[in-house]
Amino acid sequence: MRSFLPAYELRAPASFQTALELLAREPGIWKPLAGGTDVMVLFEAGKLPHRKFLSIWKLPELRGMEVSPAHFTLGALTTYTEIQAHPVLQKEFPLLCRAAAETGGIATQNRGTLAGNIANASPAADSPPALLIYDAELELVSAGGSRWVPYNGFHTGYKQMLLRPDELIRRIRLPLRKDAWRQYYRKVGTRKAQAISKVCFAGAALVAGDEIRDVRIALGSVAPIVLRCTQTEAALKNQRLSAATPEAAREALAREIAPIDDMRSSAAYRLRVAQNLLAEFIAQIGNGGRSHR
Ligand SMILES: Cc1cc2nc3c(=O)[nH]c(=O)nc-3n(C[C@H](O)[C@H](O)[C@H](O)COP(=O)(O)OP(=O)(O)OC[C@H]3O[C@@H](n4cnc5c(N)ncnc54)[C@H](O)[C@@H]3O)c2cc1C
Repeated sequence: MRSFLPAYELRAPASFQTALELLAREPGIWKPLAGGTDVMVLFEAGKLPHRKFLSIWKLPELRGMEVSPAHFTLGALTTYTEIQAHPVLQKEFPLLCRAAAETGGIATQNRGTLAGNIANASPAADSPPALLIYDAELELVSAGGSRWVPYNGFHTGYKQMLLRPDELIRRIRLPLRKDAWRQYYRKVGTRKAQAISKVCFAGAALVAGDEIRDVRIALGSVAPIVLRCTQTEAALKNQRLSAATPEAAREALAREIAPIDDMRSSAAYRLRVAQNLLAEFIAQIGNGGRSHR
């Protein structure tokens, strides 16, 4: 039985500015706490050095979703349940809804947030492949101001990211333009639900006749970060779909990803599954279908 719960301090400021000032005064000391579904597990397991927690759960500046002509914007605290329920996300960003539906169980979906998934920086997280496909951008805010950064490139290495210790993710923005793309998402885990990914695949392609005009591929659990597979994309872009297409793509993917052996799976299994998912994606875009699995 584990039972590790040292003394800790929790602040839950009513104002966004107060929260940012606290982070600015003691950067890295205050650990932001959103839904807590990662933080509380790590804390109780003795894997967090922090003893000071900053609850951001009640800050209205981090909530809400809005649609403009160019973007769909989600507040940092948007939960998986809220993502699945939004009609515009269902229509325009089905891969994100699929990822939300595949994340944990109902309790985790009610409490876990999109920014929490991003900032937890797990290479096995389920939303990031969809965010990469959709060219997501993140708004990072500190007491000194705010900046938008592309999500592609935000994670720089295992558990490393561009977020400074005095910053919060405030919003996630998705350009509205992928509706005509054929889209595919599949998570492979030990079970159909409540499982951490062995491999997670998101793909989208713009196909005209039998030609792949453009393509996006992103995978989780195959590298130290969730990866946009640009070399595999290059092997497919502007190619005609033929019997040889899947094999050429499988070879490109094998050169690009670097899965590891760990307690959840082996490198060889992950590579094989990633290649099979790629072949399934190619077969489905060839059939003209929109598969979100
Ligand atoms: C039973 C269970 C099942 C799960 N299943 C899955 C799964 O299938 N797939 C999956 O991907 N994940 C899964 N998770 C992990 C977790 O639920 C998600 O990563 C979730 O999105 C985390 O969000 P949160 O709001 O709970 O984050 P928290 O635990 O509150 O925070 C996570 C990290 O993000 C930081 N953070 C949070 N919000 C912000 C912000 N706005 N700005 C800056 N930093 C911030 C925190 O400081 C912390 O480092 C599971 C967790 C549990 C307990």
